Parts: sequence; structure tokens; C-alpha cells
Amino acid sequence: MSAQDTPLGRELKDLIAAEGPIPVARYMALCLGHPRHGYYMTREPFGAAGDFTTAPEISQVFGELIGAWAAASWQAMGRPSSVRLVELGPGRGTLMADMARAAQGLPGYADALDIHLVETSPRLRERQRRTLAAAGWAASWHEDLATVPAGPTLLVANEFLDALPVRQFVMTERGWRERVVGLNADGALAFGLAPDPVPASLIHERLRAAQPGAVAELCPAFETLAGALAARHAAGPLAALFIDYGHLAPAHGETLQAVKAHAFTDPLAEPGLADLTAHVDFSAFARCAAAAGLAVAPAVTQRDLLFRLGLAARAEALARANPQALDTIRSGVERLVDPSPAGMGALFKAVLVHSPDLDPVW
Ligand code: SAH
Repeated sequence: MSAQDTPLGRELKDLIAAEGPIPVARYMALCLGHPRHGYYMTREPFGAAGDFTTAPEISQVFGELIGAWAAASWQAMGRPSSVRLVELGPGRGTLMADMARAAQGLPGYADALDIHLVETSPRLRERQRRTLAAAGWAASWHEDLATVPAGPTLLVANEFLDALPVRQFVMTERGWRERVVGLNADGALAFGLAPDPVPASLIHERLRAAQPGAVAELCPAFETLAGALAARHAAGPLAALFIDYGHLAPAHGETLQAVKAHAFTDPLAEPGLADLTAHVDFSAFARCAAAAGLAVAPAVTQRDLLFRLGLAARAEALARANPQALDTIRSGVERLVDPSPAGMGALFKAVLVHSPDLDPVW
């Protein structure tokens, strides 16, 4: 096991020695977003040479189909003359560039688009700026959804929810206690439990009665995000598509995972150098959205979503235009819709949050 001897690991050990153990959510937030040493601040995560590969980086078909969804949603909104096309956590900007390219086919749509990217990492912002500039698109960047100007909104977020920090609770003889990161006798980072139980009301009712050792997760940022989406809906129609991996019903289990160079690693081993994510509890996100007054369309698998949006025809057209790349196109598309349990087509789900008075494209 590594000595956790990274710049962030050293800083965390000092912090914990001074202030005591920190909740898992704070550990995750610092590992990803620490201003100097956070994973997204320093690393180039995406692609074969990075740590993981996301759907838009596998095949342009993904972004083009999501772009077709956005274009159809604009029509469903009554073709507003200006619409905010917003992406949360845009990575390299590939999805947005592919979506924007797909906008060209629909009269009036490209002219209506006003692109806004919500990204906390200055490095990735710069990467996104280059990608979009090369494709000939202007955009604005934001730290937070709250500063995107009001108006009709089409929003997409791929692998964004899984990067939002989760709190973890473990059932003990004395009730649910929060999982924390502290220091063991050797001064190494180690998981532990906060001394006092938390109110059982923090745990989803279906998970509350559990055997000692059971783990429940809670993503506090879902409520904040749902509030920000509801505020947008109050000022114009909203259709927001979230794609991520996770489960559709509340479930017990520890899902915090670290990935580096396309392999799982110990989440405490290399703070700041590995990606940290948690499985998305879509039912929890949907509950927050509904509580904020928004409508939520039934979740579907990524496979079903892409087929519904015209995957077969789009892949065929792309292959016809690029016969020399036939194998690459085919294998990319197959990977996006792979229906095996660990395949992207089944593991990834899509959920649509929208204005209740909008007849959504779904
Ligand atoms: N959507 C991209 C990248 C997914 S990785 C793709 O599919 O390839 C997660 C992205 O979310 C990164 O761009 C990361 O910097 C960004 N991110 C993580 N937490 C964020 C937050 N709280 N606010 C805004 N962006 C965030």
C-alpha cells in the first residue's frame, strides 16, 4: 500500500492532526476540488492516456444524439429565439462541440443557441475553450449554475452527478454513524466512524432499519442542484438531461471508488492523483427535483436512450461517410450501448428533469 505521500495527502494529514477526522464528503470534495492539489485541477483525466474514458470521448455519435435530443426539446419549447444550452462538468468540451455541430441541421436553432459551461477547474475550462473555439463556437463559463443568465434552458450533464461528494453512514449497535477519514496509530489516513450517531431521519426510510455494518450514502449537493434547477424553471422552460452510472432505487452499500490509469485503486492511497466518484442514487436525485417542484421523466438506460434518439441510423450514416473507419465506429457504438451488467449501456442511466408544463422529448 502506498504511503499516501502526495502533496494533498500531506496537507490532509496536517489538517486532520490539527482539527480531527473529516467526513468522507469533505475528503472527496478536497481530493477532487482542492484549489491547488485537487484531481480535476491538476490531472488530464480523460482518454486512453488518462484515467478513464467517458461516453463523448468514445464516439462522436454520443454527442450528436444528445444534440438531437436538445434540438427536439427546443422545438418542444416552441422554438424560443434564444435558448441557453448549458453543460455541467464538460470535461474536454467534446460533448458540447458534438452537440453544437449537430445543431446545424435545424433552421433557426443554431442562431438561438447561447452556450454556457459550468466548470470549477481552470485547467479544464481552458481545454473546453480550445475545443469550442476550434469548432467555431463562443461560450461563457461559470463556477456555478446559479450565475447562468435566466431564460429557456436546455441542460446536459454527463458523469457530473457522480463527482458530487457523498456523505456515508454506517449502521452500528448505537445507530447510524457518519464515516470519517482520520489517522491511524501510524499516522496514516484511515476510515473511521464519528463518535455520535446522526438522526435516523438523514437515512432514506427504506434503508433505515438495517443490520450493523450496513452503509447508506447521501449526496447533499442534489438538493442544492435541484433548487438551482427549480429557480431556472421559474424564469423559463427547462429540460435537463443527466446521464451517469448508478442505481434507480435506494440501496445499501458503499460505492465510493477511486480510479487511476483505468484501474480501481484504494480511495485513500493517492489523494488528489486518482479520480473519486460514487454511484448516483437516481431515486434520491429525482426526489429532490420533485420536492423542488420539477417534473421527472422515468429513468432509462443509456442503451435505450441512444436507440430512441436514433442510434442505428446515425451510426450507419457516419459509417457510410467514413468507410475507412468502419471498425472504430462500430466498436465505439457497441461500447456505448453494451447491455451486459457492467457495460455502459446498462450501468449508465439517463434521467430527465423538466418544467412540469413542458411536454418533454423522452
Ligand atoms: N462530462 C465530461 C467530464 C466528466 S468528469 C465527459 O463526459 O467527458 C467531471 C467533470 O465535472 C469535470 O469537468 C470536472 O472538472 C467537473 N466538476 C466536478 N465537480 C464539479 C462542480 N462541483 N462544479 C462544476 N464542475 C465540476
